[in-house]
Amino acid sequence: MHSMTKALILPASEIASIAARHPTPFHLYNEAGIRANARRLKAAFAWNSGFREFYAVKACPNPFLLKILKAEGFGADCSSLPELLLSERVGITGEDIMFTSNDTPAEEFVKARQLGAVINLDDLSHIAFLERAAGLPELVCCRYNPGPLKGGNAIIGHPEEAKYGFTREQLFEGYRMLRDRGVRRFGLHTMVASNELDPQYFIDTAEMLCSLASSLSRELGITFEFLNLGGGIGIPYRPEQRAVDLDAVGAGIRRAYERQLLGSGHPPLKVCLECGRMVTGPYGCLVTRVRHIKRTYKQYAGLDACMANLMRPALYGAYHHITVIGKQDKPCDRVYDVTGSLCENNDKFAIDRALPELAPDDLLVIHDTGAHGHAMGFQYNGKLRSSELLRREDGTVVPIRRAETPEDYFATLDFGSLARFEA
Ligand SMILES: *Cc1c(COP(=O)(O)O)cnc(C)c1O
Repeated sequence: MHSMTKALILPASEIASIAARHPTPFHLYNEAGIRANARRLKAAFAWNSGFREFYAVKACPNPFLLKILKAEGFGADCSSLPELLLSERVGITGEDIMFTSNDTPAEEFVKARQLGAVINLDDLSHIAFLERAAGLPELVCCRYNPGPLKGGNAIIGHPEEAKYGFTREQLFEGYRMLRDRGVRRFGLHTMVASNELDPQYFIDTAEMLCSLASSLSRELGITFEFLNLGGGIGIPYRPEQRAVDLDAVGAGIRRAYERQLLGSGHPPLKVCLECGRMVTGPYGCLVTRVRHIKRTYKQYAGLDACMANLMRPALYGAYHHITVIGKQDKPCDRVYDVTGSLCENNDKFAIDRALPELAPDDLLVIHDTGAHGHAMGFQYNGKLRSSELLRREDGTVVPIRRAETPEDYFATLDFGSLARFEA
């Protein structure tokens, strides 16, 4: 039985020494990797002078990481009130925030307006809703859902089944309405993929959006300030997969932009992205120890982490690579279901995974948890969320979130009221 290897975010010996000083489980992020990657993304779009990446805060809503990304010139893509507040706390405000939400409550529009965020509307009916709730800002963006005009993708599914965005016809009506109500600055947004590894998918999306912007512009006599192509750039979770060639994506989008948009006479505009996964995903990992080895009808390795720390395998059947520290050179001649302790049988990080022989206390690295990892955590079954550690460029390790305690689990309960409560 063979198993391919995948590079760790830091040398195995360094991860082992961090785990000797900090109790497992924890998510560990590598600042140097995040920064180098942020620079690669910016370089791929350097041809567009207004290029901006708005980091999707939901991917890893930690203010320390947001501060690093802000320093790299990224804005924030928010979709809830707490995400807006978090961005505000790290000093990301105004048009450095893209507010892309759906089924939006009025108070979130109010907060987004108060921060001066760029509001991205999810539906035609939200124009009047926003106007009533908070008034229309001078800059408004609308989210396009191409429906059957665009092929689907595994996580988001087929666009016509997706709850997001306006139809093409509704966009013409929507921008006309916005124009007639005094909006003067416009953006256009779409996001039709998630965890997509094919560069051509993003280039095709740009072709579609540039040509749509040009049609809207011509028909309505408006010009767009920016196009936001959303997030969804995938990462190679599996060792045999390769990272998306960002330069190829940037160059392909440039061709689409020059041909479809500039070629039709539309003035230059800003190209924006709101990626989460590809920005931090590969630069984080979940570090955990084997607690028990169990042999029944199958062989199980039970960890001190569970799906409350990383839900993707249970939620999507997602693959996350596992490296056993200190046993990288041992043959992967055993097969395990790698589980957590949650009372749900889908609490498995891996099923039938070929690994070296495991023993209690073995240190495992579950790869690629820097996005949609800790962020998706929950407390079901009294399972508490882990700490987060940041390995800084100078080699120091900073705790950027403590682990939850039972007090956190009880924080929303009032035991004083319980004492007075007559059963
Ligand atoms: C989730 C999400 C993103 C980020 O997606 P990634 O797959 O992490 O790049 C960006 N924009 C919107 C609207 C989202 O919902």
